[in-house]
Amino acid sequence: MKGYIPDNKVEEVKNRASIVDLVSEYVTLKKAGRNFVGLCPFHKEKTPSFTVTPDRQMFYCFGCGEGGGVFTFLMKIAQMTYPEAVRHLAKKTGVVIHERISQKERQEDSRREQLIRINETAAGHYVRNLVSPSGKEALAYLRKRGVREETIKAFRLGLAANGWHHLRDFLEKEKASLENAEQAGLLVPGKDGHLYDRFRDRLMFPVEDLSGRVIAFGGRIMGAGEPKYLNSPESDVYVKGRNLYALNRAKDAIRRQGYAILVEGYFDLISLWNAGITHVVATLGTALTKDQIELICRYTTHVVVLFDPDEAGRKALTRSLELFLAGNLSARALVLPEGLDPDDYVRAHGSDRLLELINGAPSLVDYYIDHVLGDQGGFEKDRDSLRKAVAFIKHIEDVLDRNLFIKRVSEKLGIDQELLKKEISRARPAITDGSAIRGVHRAEIEKLEMDLVHLLLIHPEKIVPVTHASILDHFTNGDLKNFGESLLKSAAAGLQHWDAVERVSRLGPGPIREGLMKKLMEGRPFEEEKILDRLIVDVTRQIRRRWYKEKHKALKMDIGKAQEADDADLCSRLLVEKERLLREEKMLGI
Ligand SMILES: [Zn+2]
Repeated sequence: MKGYIPDNKVEEVKNRASIVDLVSEYVTLKKAGRNFVGLCPFHKEKTPSFTVTPDRQMFYCFGCGEGGGVFTFLMKIAQMTYPEAVRHLAKKTGVVIHERISQKERQEDSRREQLIRINETAAGHYVRNLVSPSGKEALAYLRKRGVREETIKAFRLGLAANGWHHLRDFLEKEKASLENAEQAGLLVPGKDGHLYDRFRDRLMFPVEDLSGRVIAFGGRIMGAGEPKYLNSPESDVYVKGRNLYALNRAKDAIRRQGYAILVEGYFDLISLWNAGITHVVATLGTALTKDQIELICRYTTHVVVLFDPDEAGRKALTRSLELFLAGNLSARALVLPEGLDPDDYVRAHGSDRLLELINGAPSLVDYYIDHVLGDQGGFEKDRDSLRKAVAFIKHIEDVLDRNLFIKRVSEKLGIDQELLKKEISRARPAITDGSAIRGVHRAEIEKLEMDLVHLLLIHPEKIVPVTHASILDHFTNGDLKNFGESLLKSAAAGLQHWDAVERVSRLGPGPIREGLMKKLMEGRPFEEEKILDRLIVDVTRQIRRRWYKEKHKALKMDIGKAQEADDADLCSRLLVEKERLLREEKMLGI
């Protein structure tokens, strides 16, 4: 992020640029009616589904769902940031931009830049160490583990030499800032105040951000010693649990394959990559986080978790199960046979066998029931399993998922389903909100919500009056609701440079962006305001009606549960809530 480019300049650049000319620099386009089509540069295809519409100054691929305007196209194809794309096109179209950069922006910007630069310098140093005479042993170790030359190069594997100040001396010689190196966690102050190398006698794995710049390191000890893996501390450029190792390299393959493989360690990932399996990311030695799941969701909603068969691996898998269930991701789990970790397995049996296992991997839920709740046997053990199951199931928000789980667990443990249900409703926090709506209904509701957002995007003058009537509160899709709120915010500030395509293209990849893009590409604005207004009234009413219907359903279930549990207090509270809902509905005329 550099300076602030004034909106009117961005507008000028956009108006002068031609999307057809720009895309033609990268893709061969053919005219097809009002549009142009070609082979998509963002996914592999044999028949063109990539469409450019000069009328709307946008592109959209019916195959992979990528779409946007001129800036988005440049950002995607040339890996530019937004300001870089604007500046690049400004140059081409002859628009002069005088940027206003605030002092603070400049400082923060250079702070991050400096840390990345020092990391890059250190990465170079480690790489040179590995191929120098002192790296002989480390290189032999990598070869012994079957890591190929290209893989070593691609991942910029390196070596921190054995000693207290190899890196420090090198940085000093390079006149690099030792203070930055300390901030990046490469150097550590000793008791005497002198700085020494954090990483010593370690195989070094640079951790890169999505644009491939080094933000941290993981170091594996070469000889004996603890810890086996040492990671960079957090810094301005590196926050634990917000990155996935190798995502920058894997993202295209993940998109192509339609799913991601998640492993624990650097070596697991590298050995899979080495065997030609490249749609894989690693958690960097920490437990999986919500942020990491969101990162994956940008590229796919299908994940196969491939964890070590040891106790730590199993625990990590169990913990991630809850996150996956909450994250609306479809996850499968694979623990390799014969107690092998992924690295061993690929080397012993090859990648084809591994891919076969991956394709046949059970869902994470099945895995949990079979492996975590364990085999039956003994009263004590059953009681323990029951307790575990209740503790786990109470966190499952989705009613359908929860009931399925209850059914399977009761079969597995041979417990009465009703008894299990009772235990769980006692353990569950009482009042559920509308977030429990899902399944077929959800798809229908989302379609309505999407229709409304689309109408507002192409008729932004309607945003303030429509959203003012609190319709967004009745959205069930949180992402669409957030998007609606951001639209309201900017519409309230003025509609001067409204650009629907640009706004949608800034959404993360996924069904919402795809759906809206497609609508923008195909839909036409309504010329008659009367028709538009009627349509809006109709859609908003349907959204509300469904929201209340689902809410009543959820309440009914909660009331049932409260009665089952003989909780009179909760029961009356829920009935009051029901009355309130009915009144609200009447008021809104639903
Ligand atoms: Zn495509």
